[in-house]
Amino acid sequence: MKQAYIAGNWKMNMTPSEGAAFAKELAKAIEGTGSKVMVAPPFVTIPAVLKAAKGSALIVAAQNMANHESGAYTGEVSPLMLKDLGVNDVILGHSERRSIYGESDEVINEKLLLALKHDMNVVFCIGETLEERESGRLEEVLERQVRVGLAGVKGDQMKKITIAYEPVWAIGTGKTATPDDANDAHAFVRRVVEKLFSKGVAEATVIQYGGSVKASNAKALMSMPHIDGALVGGASLSLEQFLPIVNFDK
Ligand code: PEP
Repeated sequence: MKQAYIAGNWKMNMTPSEGAAFAKELAKAIEGTGSKVMVAPPFVTIPAVLKAAKGSALIVAAQNMANHESGAYTGEVSPLMLKDLGVNDVILGHSERRSIYGESDEVINEKLLLALKHDMNVVFCIGETLEERESGRLEEVLERQVRVGLAGVKGDQMKKITIAYEPVWAIGTGKTATPDDANDAHAFVRRVVEKLFSKGVAEATVIQYGGSVKASNAKALMSMPHIDGALVGGASLSLEQFLPIVNFDK
């Protein structure tokens, strides 16, 4: 089994002082854990969290970034700015970016290629809506998101990319995909990665599950053969809820 990769997406929560206090405790609490652990604070909270996590194994990521390096893009944050802060990891294609801010597969692909250009690690999110699942289009949607999102990526760059399968209907709703349903979707995504690259790349790719992961379901999800980690929203905002997910195997 690969090293489990547990990531917390704080979304628009945690001021810089709240984030720093949280990260300080989390960084200490994950000493000696077997999992790779990441948190993604809001942009303005990142510097305080980086400072609090300094010297620890906690990875600090951005939740998004621009598809340009600089210029007249009001309100956007460039990969160059993130790198200058010391941020080497970014979440791209989250369903809230897709549905609320209208990010297309093509824009996400531009961002992903730009992140790779700057040697950043990417958590690349995909996932179907309830309507897409119920109309039998699950595989079509996932295949399109993977093919377009990863267009132009070379096999040896795939080690910089984690895929997060997050069924949109399970995000923040309390509804979780069953471990078997999630595993089937992960197996399908891995087959698409194999078609695009190779069996070796597909087997090595870390695929996280996201969608109402909590302490009570983390172990069952993580025990499935194709689930290598978790991307956690709501439950990543409290140590009481996040630490048992990080330590799902204890
Ligand atoms: C997410 O936003 O990536 C997510 C999975 O949220 P939640 O865990 O709250 O469903």
